[in-house]
Amino acid sequence: MEDLHFALFPFPEQGHIAPMYQLALHLVSRGAHVTFINTETGHQRPRQLLDPPNQHNTLKHLCITDGISTQRRASLRHDVIVSDANGVADLSYSSMPILLRSLEGQASFLEELLDDLKGSRDYPPLSCLIIDAFMPWTAAISQKLQLPWIVFWTTSATRLHYTVQTLEPNETDLEQLKEMENIPTLTSASLPVFDLLKLQNPDRRQLLVERVEAMKKAHSILLNTFDALEEEAIKGLQTKLPVMSLGPFCIGAGGNTEALDADDECMPWLDRQTSGSVLYISFGSKLILQKDALEQLALGVESSEVTFLWTIRGGVEDLPEGFLERTKGRSKVMPWVSQGKVLKHRAIGAFLTHCGWNSIIEAIVGGVPMICLPFFADQPTNKILVESKWRIGRGIEGSKIAAECIRQAIQDVMSNSNFKREASLLSSLASSAMSPEGSSYQNLNFLLEKFCNHGT
Ligand code: UDP
Repeated sequence: MEDLHFALFPFPEQGHIAPMYQLALHLVSRGAHVTFINTETGHQRPRQLLDPPNQHNTLKHLCITDGISTQRRASLRHDVIVSDANGVADLSYSSMPILLRSLEGQASFLEELLDDLKGSRDYPPLSCLIIDAFMPWTAAISQKLQLPWIVFWTTSATRLHYTVQTLEPNETDLEQLKEMENIPTLTSASLPVFDLLKLQNPDRRQLLVERVEAMKKAHSILLNTFDALEEEAIKGLQTKLPVMSLGPFCIGAGGNTEALDADDECMPWLDRQTSGSVLYISFGSKLILQKDALEQLALGVESSEVTFLWTIRGGVEDLPEGFLERTKGRSKVMPWVSQGKVLKHRAIGAFLTHCGWNSIIEAIVGGVPMICLPFFADQPTNKILVESKWRIGRGIEGSKIAAECIRQAIQDVMSNSNFKREASLLSSLASSAMSPEGSSYQNLNFLLEKFCNHGT
């Protein structure tokens, strides 16, 4: 393995960088060399890992330009704002489309860099590129440099399978999509309407088509999941794409893969709480709730009477008046925590989440039941998996974010021992997958051995 050298390049967002960095640590622990490429925007992200102390001389960090001027970067908002208590995500604030375009503008620069790494003096010559699925244009660079191109898919296998299947018909219309019944784990009635509508948008559809078409040419597609969790979707995908489940990457990665500025002050507080008594609330690294949504949520949490730890990145000014005083003694509100660690703490009884895939995976690893409040992208699909497939939690009822529905869902999930039992079971399956005899561990062995023996 010492002769292997992987270049890993994530899309510059927390939810993409962290799992790819965890994979980098796994590769290094198996003896491979890794060059981890981050962009200036990735580095500037407030909650980012910024060149963590490198104990491994086989892991090198490179920071490249993403083509965005310093001035422009300063004006970019990375948050996605939820407009109101109707739970509608206003994506116009997202910097993602700008980044997608500007990164593609750096293609020749990336090509030069990879070419240099091929002739690297301090490391073995570059063996392959592992790239985020958001950057399909890198396939051409890999091909030109004769480097195997491996894709890193950051959400669920179910989501990928679902995307591939919905793109398959030549003429996809809403009615056709609703009738599709062969999508694993998701019934036609439960297909997230948001997704269906999105596929009606020609630009959006074109983007997905490009990603999936490029993936068909990939050497492998790496998934942050494990066989026992999404067996059906993984098997379905394997007939169409070269997928491999290697996760959960957050197990056994070691090192600090969360934010360096994460304050662990909440840990001693959690230590003082009874097992399973605390509700953890967080909406990931991008979503910010607007005042009316935040108010309803806070009132629901307050009336549930549970003890809670809540990460609020946007500031606490929009919380209802007196909320912090009234809940003093049973609350901890922080801008950011080491979520992976929090979800493994014995005091956590449930997780109120926006259902980002990393959050879902971390909750599964911690064996924590979930209360789902999804907004956009893969989140509605993930909620369906939690609720109907794995039965380790439930969504919040109603089409609006309403205090009473929030209270009911919290009390229901925190008192339901079935959810906890199922979640603990999945947690042990996740650990087994990453143990030396486990499916994910073996799959990574298989990938590495393929490179050692045949080059590609
Ligand atoms: N996260 C964290 N501390 C926080 C909130 C979030 O470390 O206070 C991390 C979390 O562990 C996860 C990532 O941020 O790894 C969020 O990714 P996810 O896919 O759940 O959602 P996204 O941010 O992409 O919407």
